[in-house]
Amino acid sequence: MSASYRGRLAPSPTGYMHLGVARTSLVAWLRARAVGGALVLRIEDIDAPRVVPGAAHAILGELRWLGLDWDEGPDVGGPHAPYTQLARLTLYTQAIEQLRATGLVYACTCSRKEIAQIASAPHGDLGPLYPGTCRNAPSHSGRPAALRFRMPEPAPSFVDGLQGSYAAGVADDFVLRRSDGVYAYQLAVVVDDLAMGITEVVRGDDLLSSTPRQIALYRAFGAREPAFFHVPLVLDADGRRMSKRFGSMSVTQCRQAGATPEQVIGVLAHTLGLAAPHETLTAAQLVTRFDPSKLPTSATQLDTAQLFLQAQT
Ligand code: GLU
Repeated sequence: MSASYRGRLAPSPTGYMHLGVARTSLVAWLRARAVGGALVLRIEDIDAPRVVPGAAHAILGELRWLGLDWDEGPDVGGPHAPYTQLARLTLYTQAIEQLRATGLVYACTCSRKEIAQIASAPHGDLGPLYPGTCRNAPSHSGRPAALRFRMPEPAPSFVDGLQGSYAAGVADDFVLRRSDGVYAYQLAVVVDDLAMGITEVVRGDDLLSSTPRQIALYRAFGAREPAFFHVPLVLDADGRRMSKRFGSMSVTQCRQAGATPEQVIGVLAHTLGLAAPHETLTAAQLVTRFDPSKLPTSATQLDTAQLFLQAQT
């Protein structure tokens, strides 16, 4: 890698940033900073009903508090503005037109219920697989149509920078635009990463199973996909995946409880194999010792209650 490296932070503004996302953001930041590359910050607000007012602003503050900066994005600007997805809808519309011209898009009028009834069992993070009912012609005319992408078979496989070879096995024709006109994450993320010249995508491994879909999209656009680096997730002390749903601790809660950024970075770095237990240090201090081969390749348990107690003492 070199200074031509372009990475990104792509938080969804659905609440405060919990420690799992902070940890993945730290790895994305270190990947870029370790090679003198650039980092783009993009707010992924495409799923408007899930957006919490004020969350984007809060997340920017949490990243800054942790010492994670960015070179292009909100408050900084850059040649690829705007950096919020809801301000980029024209690009997604153009992308759909480009894909339509290749014959890889079709209208689908199946309801969720119909898909659930005929689909095979829910598949990992991707939900029930679409059986392809409308592939040749929409079967329920008169209903509003979603737009689906004709997935190639077999789905593309790839070599992840952290986790090695990944082959999806099954992949269905996924939605590009919902019947209510909302563009899907899968489309928006590829259009944005492509437009912003991202060379490596660093993110949580809950998105591993989405990557073959996204690679297929890059290829449909006649583009080369970036490299991928999927960081295994953090589990709560009780073994549940850390997410806002479970009320996992946020960076803001750590700060309010009296923790310093160096303490939080220290705990996160320890779970990444980059710091000793109870070590406190800044994100910047981690840059020179960053060694991707030390990162865990399976899920790590993080006892946030312990962190909370530490912060109190
Ligand atoms: N916005 C997504 C999230 O916060 C990340 C998507 C991606 O990195 O591709 O989970």
